[in-house]
Amino acid sequence: MENDFYCDVILKGKVKINKVLETENFLAYHHTKPAWAVHIIVIPKFHVLNLSELILNHKDMIPEMMDILQKVVIKTEQDYGGCRLTTNTGNVQNSKHLHWHIYVGDMNMDL
Ligand SMILES: [Zn+2]
Repeated sequence: MENDFYCDVILKGKVKINKVLETENFLAYHHTKPAWAVHIIVIPKFHVLNLSELILNHKDMIPEMMDILQKVVIKTEQDYGGCRLTTNTGNVQNSKHLHWHIYVGDMNMDL
């Protein structure tokens, strides 16, 4: 079975999360095991594999996704001066559920 931490754990409420922002279909929260000093995750609250699949099969969700990403990015920029925004696919995507990383600072080498 493919690893889907977001459907299996986060969206089932199995771990306590610190929410940043939530919309009808998307959720932004502080990563439970941050890899950077500031590390926020943004996910759709429905299952979708990756960005390509969202664009192909859930085109109507793009504006809502861009809106929550923009809000989190602007807030992070205001608070920390800037941030990076990434999403992974294929064999560099560990959890097979679309997720964005918004992060600031040096990588946490304790992981
Ligand atoms: Zn999923």
